[in-house]
Amino acid sequence: MFRLGLTGGIGSGKSTVSARLASHGAVVIDYDQLARDAVEVGTPALAAIAERFGPDVIAPDGSLDRPGLGSIVFGDDAARADLEAITHPAIVELAIAREATVPDDGVVVHDHPLLVEMGMAAFCDLVVVVDAPEDVQVERLVTTRGMTEADARARMAAQASREERLAEADVVLDNTGSIEDLEARVDELWAQRIRP
Ligand code: ADP
Repeated sequence: MFRLGLTGGIGSGKSTVSARLASHGAVVIDYDQLARDAVEVGTPALAAIAERFGPDVIAPDGSLDRPGLGSIVFGDDAARADLEAITHPAIVELAIAREATVPDDGVVVHDHPLLVEMGMAAFCDLVVVVDAPEDVQVERLVTTRGMTEADARARMAAQASREERLAEADVVLDNTGSIEDLEARVDELWAQRIRP
């Protein structure tokens, strides 16, 4: 199995790259999705969160009240560490189960905004970082996702810096050109480094 780690700051173009890799036949493990799946209604992780943070973080329909939980852990490092101690193992378990479905000769993409922060680069055959200047990321988030500039910058500030990510990269995909340019670079990468 070829294990590719894909990361990039929010708005860098990471989803565009993972979709292109999937079109070549890679199995993409989307960690934003896993993070939601790990705390679905009925999961042990959600029960542990309710036990630690109290019933206020559970919405009337039994699902996790994300804004409510967010307001508790935001700015409280100990609370956030407790939350992560619950969610991270649950996410890893889901990722391992998903990887087990990939054939031995397959390509799996670990599409993780915090790949570098989580120390996952060491487990990947190839670490690909999608990169764009911060102002370009912000502009795309504002125009295509309707975020405010302040919100986009706050989210970026919570992630590893561009330099920290680039230091772990085997391959940097520059995304300052068009989407078509980016996709062409993914096609090249696939042919040269992933399935030569
Ligand atoms: P990420 O997954 O890293 O947050 P996306 O791939 O979703 O980023 O890209 C963020 C937004 O910017 C999307 O709406 C996407 O269509 C757009 N986008 C990505 N790359 C480009 C590009 N080169 N030119 C213009 N828009 C782009």
